[in-house]
Amino acid sequence: MNDPLRILLIDDNPDDRTLVIRELRREFPDPQVEQITNAESFTRVLETGDFDLVITDYQLRWTDGLQVLRAVKSRYPDRPTIMFTATGSEEIAVEAMKAGLDDYVLKSPKHFIRLPAAMRAALEKARQRQATKEAETRYRNLFERVPVGLYRTTPDGQILDANPAMVEMLGYPDRESLLATNTDDLYVNPKERQRWQVQMEREGLVRDFETQLRRRDGTIIWVMDSARAVQDAEGRVLYYEGSLEDITERKRAEAELRETNIQLQAALQARDEMIQNVSHELRTPLTLIMGYVGLLKEGAFGPLIPEQARIIDVLENQSDQLYFMVNRLLLLQTLDTGTIRKTELDLKLLLQKAVGAWQTRAEEAGIQLSLDISPDLPSLMADPDLLSQVIYNLLDNAIKFSPSKGVVGIRAWIEGNELIIAVSDQGIGIPPDRLERVFESFYQVDGSSTRRFGGMGIGLPLCRRIIEIHGGRIWAESEGEGKGSTFYITLPLRDAMLES
Ligand code: ADP
Repeated sequence: MNDPLRILLIDDNPDDRTLVIRELRREFPDPQVEQITNAESFTRVLETGDFDLVITDYQLRWTDGLQVLRAVKSRYPDRPTIMFTATGSEEIAVEAMKAGLDDYVLKSPKHFIRLPAAMRAALEKARQRQATKEAETRYRNLFERVPVGLYRTTPDGQILDANPAMVEMLGYPDRESLLATNTDDLYVNPKERQRWQVQMEREGLVRDFETQLRRRDGTIIWVMDSARAVQDAEGRVLYYEGSLEDITERKRAEAELRETNIQLQAALQARDEMIQNVSHELRTPLTLIMGYVGLLKEGAFGPLIPEQARIIDVLENQSDQLYFMVNRLLLLQTLDTGTIRKTELDLKLLLQKAVGAWQTRAEEAGIQLSLDISPDLPSLMADPDLLSQVIYNLLDNAIKFSPSKGVVGIRAWIEGNELIIAVSDQGIGIPPDRLERVFESFYQVDGSSTRRFGGMGIGLPLCRRIIEIHGGRIWAESEGEGKGSTFYITLPLRDAMLES
């Protein structure tokens, strides 16, 4: 910035040169002036380009000011050049201006003092030209290199400009061949083009417009187009400028995902239907078996020896569990908001009953059951059978998955508009990545160790379904393996209290 100004002073008259230098010294700090008085030194300095500004006389013995100007501008179009002469004419001045002269100062005592001001103005103009040029270069570089299609088009579809990324995206060999087409020809569906146009005319811009375009070889691509209208001072549209991104891959992936989802839904539906059919089919013979087992047990076919009685007990127990499982399966498939019967129920009583029912089993397993119910629990509107099933299931699991004994606790309290029930144990715990999966049908964290009759991974999905159709949520939390688990249920108080 503070580098000394390097000036070429081209004048044959030594007195004039002295005058100029004196004038310059007054205005610029320590200017470096190279005085040129012959063609050789001029040619040499043109080679090096070692100067910031040129001051030239018009009449020179070895050439003239116009030649000097042209020689400078042809190699250094941005170097300011000022003609300082007493011999020029208006015609020469005009011609010189056309050739890029920055200023013209007459060599007379009156005009002499104008020289430094002219120099400053010329230098400033050159600096601005340079800055504009750099900005243009930067913009052009971006336009040429950015990996997104960029374009300018007219309202009637003529393509004014397109960057290499756009040319490549549309499969044209070069920019010219793309500019020779009309945007209308690129659209697979002409109506889409109209939709684009309507949106542009209405809003002055189009954002994330997804459409299909035809490449030059006929293949079709999906693009995302964003553009805006560029207008003149009177608001007339000059052109549109926009960007185009090839989203074919994304679209393909989305379509695949949709297809997979449809297939998955169909498979799940088929599975559910099959489960429902099989459960129905199983239930009829099972009821028959249970009936006969009951009759046998009552001695309807004669007295039983102890061995027979023991076997019949086993049969009864197993068929009961099988019946329970088949029913739960059917319930899971058929349960929806329409099938539940909400009545006013006393949650405290329901929880006490559940704990009572599991007491013996818990004691046998060396587990202590604890109940902590907030005294201000209001009565609830809910389906008592279904809600009991949820609590029974959670307690069953809590005891089942607590091999190292400990405490299984049930707590219930109000928080805001919700009733919260928590069932916690000090058992094997659930790994974090499985906390959600335990609510998926037929999922068991460790199938081998937990498998027993009735344990098929339908308990928790059924719990979730029941709680969700009551407008609540259920989820599991666990400190990690071996650190116990807590199952939380929330039920909306207001909803739960409304008759359904
Ligand atoms: P099931 O129908 O087999 O009883 P659930 O749907 O009730 O199955 O539970 C699914 C799986 O979630 C269980 O097999 C078990 O792996 C895990 N799980 C459920 N409750 C607990 C718990 N309190 N502690 C640890 N794991 C549990």
